[in-house]
Amino acid sequence: MTMTETKYDVVIIGAGIFGMASAYYLLKNNNELKILVIDKAASAGAGNTAQSAAMYRDTFSSEVNLILSSTTRDFFRHVQNNLNINLSMKDITYLWLMDREKFERNKHAIETMLENNIRIDILDKNEIKQKIPELVTDFDENENVNLLGLKNIDYGILGYDCGELDADKITRDFYESEFKKLGGETLYSTRIKKFVLEPVGETLGIPGEPVGWQNKRVGAVETQDETKIIADTFILATGPWANELLLPIGIDSHALALKKSLYRVQTTRLAGLLDNEHFNEERTIPFMIFPIHGIYVKPVKYNNSVWIGGGSTIGHPYVMSCPDSYTPGENPLDDTQADPRDYEYDQYLILSEYLPVLKDQPLTNQWSGFYAINTIDKNPVVFKPAGIESLIIVTSGSGSGIMKSDAVGRIADALYRGKEFAELYGGKKFKVSRLGLIARDIDKEYFVI
Ligand SMILES: Cc1cc2nc3c(=O)[nH]c(=O)nc-3n(C[C@H](O)[C@H](O)[C@H](O)COP(=O)(O)OP(=O)(O)OC[C@H]3O[C@@H](n4cnc5c(N)ncnc54)[C@H](O)[C@@H]3O)c2cc1C
Repeated sequence: MTMTETKYDVVIIGAGIFGMASAYYLLKNNNELKILVIDKAASAGAGNTAQSAAMYRDTFSSEVNLILSSTTRDFFRHVQNNLNINLSMKDITYLWLMDREKFERNKHAIETMLENNIRIDILDKNEIKQKIPELVTDFDENENVNLLGLKNIDYGILGYDCGELDADKITRDFYESEFKKLGGETLYSTRIKKFVLEPVGETLGIPGEPVGWQNKRVGAVETQDETKIIADTFILATGPWANELLLPIGIDSHALALKKSLYRVQTTRLAGLLDNEHFNEERTIPFMIFPIHGIYVKPVKYNNSVWIGGGSTIGHPYVMSCPDSYTPGENPLDDTQADPRDYEYDQYLILSEYLPVLKDQPLTNQWSGFYAINTIDKNPVVFKPAGIESLIIVTSGSGSGIMKSDAVGRIADALYRGKEFAELYGGKKFKVSRLGLIARDIDKEYFVI
């Protein structure tokens, strides 16, 4: 049977963590549905989900951030501990390093986190020095320090219920696997080229239907080989590629794509730094965020390496592409190459001052992905765009999509079912419209690094 002859209840475009989590909850809660997940990659989770640092944290001052991330983390713990699916999830802790000024600026947010029972500790400079002797906390005024704008480390905020997991495992070994067990279908190595619009109700045979005044719905999607796949509802979960399919039909999801790179340094010289008894059961340093430009270091103890990310954003372009204007294989959003010179001239100069053990150490690997950044408030969007039927958009992980994914999948399912509230893991109710565009209700995040 060709795809043109098969009609689905729901077609989900994008098998990243958002698409797969949505697919799982839709089918789990509506097991009569015929659902197809399509991805241009050869497997699930191969887009930005695979490129990420896959860290999770609950250290947020905003209620929405806290709910989305803590319920997702608790669900992942449940999967690993009670369902015995190994997600390589480890609470290695987060340590935000800051100078006095930044600490003062964040004081209110820190108090809010304590009031919300988020398990944090405030470390002072002496404790930091004693626990991580490899870290330089104080800089003498000199030309280099002034030029780079280096800040001393006066405080550290240590988050305990924070850590790392394997994003591939939760996406494939749990969401995709459970979705398939429930009868869900997947179609990989298939790129969707466009949405096919049609009038709601009767077709009148007017050229160019649906014309301006007609009510519109997405009736089908067209693949790169011009096969049409039809469904009652389409869920777009293509992360930073979302605009490729939305802009041509006049829909703005308020997401822009920004390239983000990770760099790896692997050397036995790091063994001393990585082996640390003070923070977690893994006996490693925490995931550390440095005082300037959000530069971070993720310890990967088993192979004596660290992953380095973050860095300044201004000066880097938002990247656009349109499916009709690129040659396959040349989509700028498919570019996962990182430029080692970016590390050399940015993160390295700063980090090697804080962690001299990194001095003169070459990169052993680097890669890139794209944040789909919601330009309103850097939180995911889950909504039905106005003026068109049968379309739901689930995107804008904004650099924290893994840690919010379970909540996002449940909210997408609740929106599909027309529910006012989604039930998140642990029974917490979340008003679906809070992640929409019209009645969006996201409180401001004050713990800004
Ligand atoms: C360097 C980096 C570090 C990160 N670190 C973290 C972190 O530590 N913690 C965290 O929570 N988040 C992190 N993130 C963010 C996180 O990776 C994303 O928020 C999350 O993966 C988003 O998932 P998604 O499903 O929306 O997108 P994706 O995983 O990108 O999935 C979108 C899918 O759509 C498919 N697709 C696109 N266009 C089409 C089309 N036309 N037809 C068919 N299929 C299509 C793609 O192939 C892809 O598989 C990081 C991201 C990057 C880039």
